[in-house]
This record gives sequence, structure tokens and C-alpha cells, in this order.
Amino acid sequence: MALIVQKYGGTSVGDPQRIERVAEKVMACHDRGDQVVVVVSAMSGETDRLLALARAVARRPDPRELDVLLATGEQVTIALLSLALHKRGCPVRSYTGTQVQILTDSAFNKARIRAIDAERVRRDLAAGRVVVVAGFQGVDGEGYITTLGRGGSDTTAAALAAALKADECRIFTDVDGVYTTDPRVVPEARRLRRITFEEMLEMASLGSKVLQIRAVEFAGKYNVPLRVLSAFEDGEGTLITYEDPDMEGPLISGIAFSRDEAKLTIVGVPDEPGVAYRILGPIGEANVEVDMIVQNVGADSTTDFTFTVHRNDYEKALERLRDIAAELGARDVSGDPRIAKISLVGVGMRSHVGIAGRMFQTLAREGINIRMISTSEIKVSVVVDEKYLELGVRALHEAFALDRESMAEE
Ligand code: ASP
Ligand code: MG
Repeated sequence: MALIVQKYGGTSVGDPQRIERVAEKVMACHDRGDQVVVVVSAMSGETDRLLALARAVARRPDPRELDVLLATGEQVTIALLSLALHKRGCPVRSYTGTQVQILTDSAFNKARIRAIDAERVRRDLAAGRVVVVAGFQGVDGEGYITTLGRGGSDTTAAALAAALKADECRIFTDVDGVYTTDPRVVPEARRLRRITFEEMLEMASLGSKVLQIRAVEFAGKYNVPLRVLSAFEDGEGTLITYEDPDMEGPLISGIAFSRDEAKLTIVGVPDEPGVAYRILGPIGEANVEVDMIVQNVGADSTTDFTFTVHRNDYEKALERLRDIAAELGARDVSGDPRIAKISLVGVGMRSHVGIAGRMFQTLAREGINIRMISTSEIKVSVVVDEKYLELGVRALHEAFALDRESMAEE
């Protein structure tokens, strides 16, 4: 007998028929003898609808009251799913975040989970009941309702799975797993059977938005295997798990990319202590998040400095950089708002050299100029002109044979 946490997103519970389908899936798991805890999102579009309602009444809604409103979406779906299970004769109990005691801090609209008192859930499970918990919400020390930020139900599921020491946390969604890259760009992209927490974090933060990043962090920290799978089709999905030291993983697991990047350069700044801080300090204060940073080797006591930001922040960053340049007596400032980032991700890189070389060679063969490079232990990223993004991703997918399953994965 296994303890399984299942999470269903907004589309999976988007109408009564779909809720009935979810009830069937929950029943099937329960009938197999597993203990089942189900976390649900609000019906698709509902959280947006509630947000719009709030904004129609108050242009800047009070955060505490907004959470009181937003939390209702999930309260509807736990009740509906439980009704559907009751009808099928399945013993079930639904709980809101406050009732299970998903304790959070008081950062309304983006609260973080501090602790879960899962005693009640455990008692229900021991009594043979299915437990249905509202995703995305919790309660703070004052007893106030909080919500966890958009997509937060994934995190509820992972946190509950960790608290219950579940055998697996299954995230049912509208895709059937995690792919080697975005299939809209590379039709040959392949669903991965497994990927490590570390790799998934790199893939997610780089734009492959399959599930909320905090859920992966939670699962990784507490070592709960996470499985992403389709709510509509049968299949084993993708298992996100720890690295198995006894099993040789594939060299490269996937290619992540992001389109909406921009780069800025400040030329001829004094090559002396404190300069990086005097450039990036004010950029950070302007609330602009900096991604890649490159400082050139100095020549004649000056140096150049290039960094990337999200495209939405480009104008703001450029303006600040001009002021900074004047203060530092820099020679020039330039920028390019039409760049993209491509990253190869794989824990196999740790033990293999030559990945970066092969990547650069592949891009060179396609005549793609690399504008910036950065590497970490399990990732190599390059910045290229935006117009080469698709070409670059396709060429790399082929060069690293990502369309074929490596033997290590089988
Ligand atoms: N209903 C919330 C949202 O739309 C939480 C979730 O779906 O995970 O963001
Ligand atoms: Mg979601």
C-alpha cells in the first residue's frame, strides 16, 4: 500500500464532466488499495475571474481581503470533487487550507508555507478515507486566510506530500510530462522518463513552465518523488527525482530557452575595486533582475561590462546605465533588446568534458554567432540573436540526439 498525493490543475477540474473524470481516477487509485490525498486548483479561469471582480471594486485591492476572495475558487472544487466521490460510494472528506492547517507566513498573495499539521489527514487516511485538500491556500499565525501565488497548488501538493512522507506526488496537468525541449519549437522533442530535481529547476527557471518552481524545490528538499502526467490520457509521465548514483544518466537531459531577454553593455569603465557594485547596485535598486554577467579582461586600466535582463526591464535598465556611465566616466553605453538564451541542461555534464565545445561547434555550423556564454556545473547557456533561437534549439536537439532515448534512461 502506497501513500499517493495527486494534484489536479484548473483545466482538469474545469467543468462537471471533468470533475467526474477526476473522481474516477481517484477511485481507481483508492480501489487499488493506496491511500490517496487529492489537491485541487480552482476551475480554469476562476482565479482570473475573481481577480477581475476584485479590481472592478477596488483598483488596488487590499491584499488580505483579496486572499479571502481568491481562496474561494479552490473551496468550490474540493466540495464538487468530494460530492462526485460520495456519489460513487467513496469515503471522503474535503478540507480548506485553514482546516488542514497549512501554516504560512503573512505575506498575503504570495505566502510561503511554514509548517503543515497533517495529523487530521493521517487520521482520515487510517480510517480508509480519501482526503481532498484545497490547493493554493493556507492560514497565517493570526488565523487569516493566505494564498501562495499563482500556480500555488503545485506547491501545496508537494508540501503535503513532504509532510505526509508520501511515496509519490503526482501532478496531473494538461501536458503528459516534461519534454527535452518545447515541442512547439522542435516537433521531435521527446517526453523524458525521468529527470533530476536539479535539472528540473534549471529547466523551469529557464522557461519550460510545467509546474511551479517552488513545488520542485520542496520536493527536492524533502526528497519526495514528483511525477508530472496527463490528466486526460494514460501514461507514466515524467518522474522528477534525485540523482541515482548507481545509474548513469543521459549526458544532456534537455534544452531550455527564453526569448524575452535583452543585453546591456557599458564600455570603458575604470578597472578598479567596487566598479561592478557601482554598476549593478543601482540596477538592482531599480528592481531589475540581472541574469548573466560578463566582465572583460581589463586593458589600459579600463574594462567593459555586459549583463542581461528581462526584455520588459530593458528601457529602465538602459536609462539607469546611462546615469551610471556618466558618474563613472565610462566611454559608452550600448544595448540590444532582441536576444535570446539557449541552455543545455544535464547532470551528466559533471563527469563529461566537451559538451560546451560540441555546443559551440553546432551553432557555428549553422552560422549562429554566440554573444555571451555562461556555464554552471550542470548547464551551458549561450546568448544569441533572437532570430536564431529556433534554428539554434533545433540544431542542438539534433546534435545531441535528444530525440532518441539514451540507453541510460531505459
Ligand atoms: N488557482 C490558482 C491559480 O490559478 C492556483 C493554481 O491553479 O495552482 O493560480
Ligand atoms: Mg497550474
